[in-house]
Amino acid sequence: MFERIAILGAGLIGASVALAAREAGAARVVALYDANEAVRARAKEIGLGEIAESAEAAVMGAELVVLAVPVGAMGAAMQSIAPHLAQGAILTDVGSVKGAVLNAVGPHLPAHAVFVPGHPIAGTEHSGPDAGFASLFHGRWHVLTPFDESEEGKTALGKLVAFWEKLGARVEVMSHERHDVVLAVTSHLPHLIAFNIVAMAEDLENVTETEVVKYSASGFRDFTRIAASDPTMWRDVFLNNREAVLEVLGRFSEDLAALQRAIRWGDGQSLYTIFDRARRMRREVIDAGQDTPAPNWGRDTKGE
Ligand code: NAP
Repeated sequence: MFERIAILGAGLIGASVALAAREAGAARVVALYDANEAVRARAKEIGLGEIAESAEAAVMGAELVVLAVPVGAMGAAMQSIAPHLAQGAILTDVGSVKGAVLNAVGPHLPAHAVFVPGHPIAGTEHSGPDAGFASLFHGRWHVLTPFDESEEGKTALGKLVAFWEKLGARVEVMSHERHDVVLAVTSHLPHLIAFNIVAMAEDLENVTETEVVKYSASGFRDFTRIAASDPTMWRDVFLNNREAVLEVLGRFSEDLAALQRAIRWGDGQSLYTIFDRARRMRREVIDAGQDTPAPNWGRDTKGE
């Protein structure tokens, strides 16, 4: 599909794009650059692709450039490559927030390149080049938030849809505003809650010497997986999707207060109604192919 693609940032997502693109035959040459020297050395060791010693060298002659750095680093990364992008290069990103990335990248975009922002709704709690794997995008949604309605913009969008589909993803196109609200509900708020619960439990364990870790299998463990996610990435997500997150957080706090009141007043009917609605949502997630119905996420509980 592409003769040469360049990926900036060789962490979980950048490494996965590199491996998936090569496995799918979507690019003949995959060049990567990471600002972190140790990451570059490791990426070379595990054979992620052609590891460049500068961002400029990586993007030289690339028809597609993928920005796979933390959201807060997108502007700087773009600034470093802008003058070196090939004529007609397609630029995309994988940032978890779309409005802020458009604001950071847009002003540096040269007239001879086209930018189509994107976000793979796929990931794990691990980071770094070793965390990447080729099947990460299989069956997962990839959201593109195009804004350029020119012929070049439409052609670039078409090529990116084909690229992500080749990597195994299902592609959805929406506005960046819609993306940021939807993701605030489905991803950003759940992570914030997990960070909060785990940090609170850690604090309680220290203060009261309760056995949180020992009995963590009863629900807490699943929050610890989400809360193990990269702190730099998540700091940037919350700093850059402030309005949408604060909006859904306000609603969440109100509903939590209603649950608190129901518990205080022994209102079992309200509790049951809410829990029952929530339980049905789980069925919808499984029916949509977003998770497995296996009990305990298919974990082998016998061996634990
Ligand atoms: P990661 O594993 O931490 O990798 C990011 C890499 O980019 C790090 O090695 C980092 O180096 C490097 N970097 C920082 N600034 C750079 C620059 N200016 N030029 C080149 N490299 C630079 O992060 P990730 O999980 O792959 O996330 C990358 C992007 O994907 C983020 O925007 C995130 O929002 C998005 N995303 C993540 C997930 C997920 O589940 N993790 C899912 C979907 C989308 P240092 O470590 O030295 O800073």
